[in-house]
Amino acid sequence: MKIQQVDLTTQYLRIQKEMDEAVLQCIRSGAYINGAEVGIFAQNLAGYTGAQYVIPCANGTDALQIALMALDLQPGDEVIVPAFTYVASAEVIALLKLVPVLVDVDFETFNMDVEKFKKAITNKTKAVIPVHLFGQTCDMQPILEICKLHKIAVVEDNAQSIGSVYTFSDGQKLQAGTMGDIGTLSFFPAKNLGCYGDGGAMLTNNETLAGKLKMIASHGQSRKYYHDVVGCNSRLDTLQAAILNVKLKYLSDFIEARQQAATYYNEQLQELSGCIVLPAVADYSTHVYHQYTIRLKEGKRDELKQFLYEKNIPSMIYYPLPLHHQKAFKDIIRVGSDLSQSEQLSQSVLSLPMHTELNKEQQDYIIDSIKQFFNR
Ligand SMILES: *Cc1c(COP(=O)(O)O)cnc(C)c1O
Repeated sequence: MKIQQVDLTTQYLRIQKEMDEAVLQCIRSGAYINGAEVGIFAQNLAGYTGAQYVIPCANGTDALQIALMALDLQPGDEVIVPAFTYVASAEVIALLKLVPVLVDVDFETFNMDVEKFKKAITNKTKAVIPVHLFGQTCDMQPILEICKLHKIAVVEDNAQSIGSVYTFSDGQKLQAGTMGDIGTLSFFPAKNLGCYGDGGAMLTNNETLAGKLKMIASHGQSRKYYHDVVGCNSRLDTLQAAILNVKLKYLSDFIEARQQAATYYNEQLQELSGCIVLPAVADYSTHVYHQYTIRLKEGKRDELKQFLYEKNIPSMIYYPLPLHHQKAFKDIIRVGSDLSQSEQLSQSVLSLPMHTELNKEQQDYIIDSIKQFFNR
């Protein structure tokens, strides 16, 4: 049995005919940059997410950088990010000569701790990047309220949680990436909506920001060869847009497949609750399971990972080193709160194989192997 952390080829085979046609049509059209498929994808994605404006770009990291560029921040301004996340958000803050301020995450949801965020705010805080980690949203209502009060811009890093839905206390439901000033997406192949290369997008409901984002992503041009601001070159290839137009049609099915796989893991691993902690779902968010991440008690994480590896079962540690311990960031960040939960999580988390093609036979083998480990 061959088990992969993420199985992209089997997924492709399921939609092969439609995908091959879309790709071939694009190649034959000759419009490889800014072809019609790009605009169509932006429209389709606006329809799916409920965002008013969608600006495609080259990848999720560019999306974050362009989002911050559009906010007119000044060197030295502080931007708050969680310490337990992928490097991209802190990286673009540093590149723009802003100061990354790291705050801790909640132990159960892995997402930014709202109380610690509140305490990290100073009069230099100009933006926050809540990261919707592993498939569920941060607790956005209090975050948005605090930010409104302090005039802090909100850029949601939604690279991992497209399609997850947040419920406000009045019952209003909004998708991840559409609640703050700007939401960013990555279409890296292994993301929940992945293309066959690099891709990204920015979402906003603010017309002025939409215009700025579009301009910055296109060399700061207001019209061709007239440059109003210093921008960059960040485009979604027509080919990737054509691929995404096919994949977006299946995103709801793909999310359901992930949720079913997660439910099965939950049911079957329940009996090990003395040894492992299963992923929690916050009551304010749905979970689209970009990752299925367990926590291990008693420091057994690395042992289990090795045990599974020897049985040809891959697993991943997201993330092994919190940002404040990364060599590149040690000296340029400000520590905004105690980071004890981030520390502990980096020592105890393990992400099990999770993708749209995981079948019961594969899951049973993974589950039985984990049980074997604890019953040795
Ligand atoms: C993948 C990812 C990114 C970066 O996306 P790229 O398309 O690889 O540049 C940013 N933030 C988070 C949380 C991610 O998971």
